[in-house]
This record gives sequence, structure tokens and C-alpha cells, in this order.
Amino acid sequence: MRRNRRVKIVATLGPASAAPEMIERLFLAGVDVFRINMSHSSHDGAKTLYNAVRACAARHRHPIGILADLQGPKFRVGEFQGGRADIETKSQFRFDRNETPGNAERVFLPHSQIFDAIEPGHHLVLDDGKLRMRVVDASKTEIVAEVVVGGMLASRKGISMPDTLLAISPLTEKDKLDLAHALKLGVDWVALSFVQRAEDVHEVRRQIGTRAAILSKIEKPSAVADLEDIIAASDGIMVARGDLGVEMPVEKVPGIQKRITQMSRAAGKPVIVATQMLESMISSPMPTRAEVSDVATAVFDGADAIMLSAESAVGQYPTEAIQMMDKIAIEVESDPVYEAILYATKTMPQPTGADAIAAAASAIADTVKLGAIVCYTATGSTVLRVTRERPGIPVIGLTPVESTARRLALVWGVQSILTGDPENLSHMVRKACRIAFEEGLVKPRDGLLITAGIPLGSPGATNMIRIAFVDESGAPIAEDV
Ligand code: PEP
Repeated sequence: MRRNRRVKIVATLGPASAAPEMIERLFLAGVDVFRINMSHSSHDGAKTLYNAVRACAARHRHPIGILADLQGPKFRVGEFQGGRADIETKSQFRFDRNETPGNAERVFLPHSQIFDAIEPGHHLVLDDGKLRMRVVDASKTEIVAEVVVGGMLASRKGISMPDTLLAISPLTEKDKLDLAHALKLGVDWVALSFVQRAEDVHEVRRQIGTRAAILSKIEKPSAVADLEDIIAASDGIMVARGDLGVEMPVEKVPGIQKRITQMSRAAGKPVIVATQMLESMISSPMPTRAEVSDVATAVFDGADAIMLSAESAVGQYPTEAIQMMDKIAIEVESDPVYEAILYATKTMPQPTGADAIAAAASAIADTVKLGAIVCYTATGSTVLRVTRERPGIPVIGLTPVESTARRLALVWGVQSILTGDPENLSHMVRKACRIAFEEGLVKPRDGLLITAGIPLGSPGATNMIRIAFVDESGAPIAEDV
């Protein structure tokens, strides 16, 4: 099962896509990684989805990634008398520790951490950005705010504090239970919501170890401010544009998206552009032209993956949405401007052996016009350094480690294949040639480039580049062995 594009597609599972036959259909339409949103999934539900994806992958003998997205800290206001209050613009509104139902002047806020950290001048955003306030006075028991944009606020609606760094754990009690369940199932990626700082990622890493790769969702201004360290601490990044557009002025989101994509690419960490990519396809079989441009922009920027949320989870046209993303990606990647943009946005290799080999592999492949780069990898790290170069030809990751093969499903341009370690150098060349030939990436007399670590099977020691040419049967031409 080879895709005709290098960008990957992530689709969120939900009621519209939970049936095994639907998962199969979505995979065939182009999904590389399925996302289970723990905000909306019970543990039994997550297990059923997990098993259905794994069964689909086994049927097709194709590594499919599974990403469990943790809900993260969500804050809500207390109850209002009658279930709602009409809060007037320019009035003063109070959040306090008094549990009696609120009104148009005040409401209970059941989170002491907010009172501990908020300061005058900070902003409050309520109900996904519908209401906005600015703090004028704050103490341990009361926050007084000026209402910048008022409106109707119902009981238990969400509240966020874009300017406030809260002293909270990155995992809530619910997240801890969900994480334990997801790790027990064996998910490949775990996404952390509302990451505030790099230390949040380090803290979760201490709990997860190497059991899953960690993807940090960038959706808070404090995370944007600490981007470099968060990217360094994470295995991957998601531009979570939904919450980012609530916590920051929406007009800033496109620039931030480009910055996150560029910085993640420079670091060699996979980056997903997410949320409302084909939003109108929740209820329409065709997207708007603006949505098509949005998807195309992420592909032109060289993002590793583009993601569907409600479109595939609860929409009426999940398959069509994936087919549409696939079509847009293929079209963009065949546009001559695409290669030029990728080339112009490349960053210098870092001064390490792995980067030197990755950069050389890409340069050799372009100079000699080879058919594929084949990387033998245990952890996937060499593959990440090679795809960081965004080479113009397919990259095959050959690995004996199942979790590596599945994690690489998220990575730009990589086709990962599960296979045992070769026995010796000659076997390594023969195996690479045969697989590239069988995958249709090289024809007789075409060449391919192989990277590996010698001695074979030693993780993190890539130190070899080999060029080989194949004969009519897919074997290396004799003098190459
Ligand atoms: C987002 O806010 O863009 C996002 C992906 O997060 P979630 O869908 O989990 O709210």
C-alpha cells in the first residue's frame, strides 16, 4: 500500500468513523495515522477503536499509527441561576470562591490555581472566545474583570487565561487514567493538550519513558513563547489551531503556524497542522475554495501531516474529506513551485555524523538521480534526519521494531516497512534492492541509496552510505555486492 504523496493524513475517529468497515474505508482512502480523542472516548470505546485499527493494519500488512490525544487541563465557570446570565459589554464582572449560583455580576470559579496566578491586565476568554474580559483587580479569593466583549454565558462554560502561566501539572487526574489506558493498549503517539512550557513535556516523558512518542499541541501563547525548548523536548508537534485561535488573536495564527512548521522541520521533528482544515465537509460533500487553500498551504510549507477532526469524527462525509485531502496533497506536490519552496526553506545540517550522512544522502540522490533512499533504522532517528532534508525521492525506513514502523507513519515522505535486521553487508544491499524493486520505486538499472549503522543492529550509530543498482530481477548488479 504505497501513497502517491509525501505529506501524511491524520484522521480523528468518532461516531461517524468508528465501525471497523469505516476504518478500513478511511485507511484505503488515505489515512496514515488515526487519532483517538480521549476527551470524547471511553476506555472501552478507545480499546474497540484501537483493536479495529490494528486489525486493519494486519490485514494490509501496513504500519498504521495510532495517536491518543489527552484532554489536558480544561477550566470551567460554576453554575448560573436559571442556567445562564447575560453579561453586558463594559460592565464589571467578578469571579469568586462562593459556590452559590451566579448572575450577570458574578460567578463561582472552582479553580484555586487561577486565583493564585492571575494578575491585573491579563485576559480571560470564555465559551471558545465568544466573551472576552480584562482583569482589573485580583486576589486569592476574587478576580474583578472589565467585560470587553459581553454576551450570554451558560453554566459550566469553558474559561481560559491566555496570558497566565498556571502552576499546574500537565496531566489532570483524568489524563493520568487515560494515559495509563492508552499505554496499556500500546498506542504509538500520545498528544499533550495545553502544554505551557518545555518542563511539562519533560515531566510527562519521565512517566512515559519510551513506551510512546510524545506530541506537544501548541495552543497557548506561553507555549508559543517557549517553542524552541518545547520542540526540543518533544518527539512531534501539533499546530492546534482551534484553541490557538481562541487564546490568541486569530490573525496571528497563520504566521504562528508557519513559524511552528519551519522550526519543527529545522529540528527534524514531525509537525501536524490541525483543525478546521475542511470544516464545511462536516455537512457538505465539497469543501470551500478557502479550505482547499488552507490544506494546500500546509502542504506547501512542508508540514509532515495534515489532520481532520470533526470532519472524520462526526461529519457526514469522512471518506470524501480524506479523498479531498489526498487529492489536494498530490496536486500541490506535483506543482513545480512545491520543490522550489521546500528547497528554499531547507535548513543547514547540524554538526553531527547523522546529519552529515542525511545531507549527503539527499545530495547524492539528487546528483545521481536515484530512485529511493533506504534507511535501516532501529529507533527511526536516521529516517527523521534524512526526511528533515526533504529529499526529492521516496524514503524507505526498514526496521525490525514494530513501534518504530508505526511512529514513522506520521513522518513526511517515509514509507516504513517491518523487516528483520540483515545478516551482513551483502544481505543488507540485496534486501534493500529487493524491497525498493518490489515497492516499484526502482526499475532495472536504476539506483538506490542505502544508509545503515555498522555494526548492523546498533541503534543510533548510522555511519554508512552505499549506492546500489538493481538488475532485471531486482537483485543488486553483481559488481555492487
Ligand atoms: C485544537 O484546538 O486545534 C485541537 C486540535 O485540540 P482539540 O481538538 O483536542 O480541542
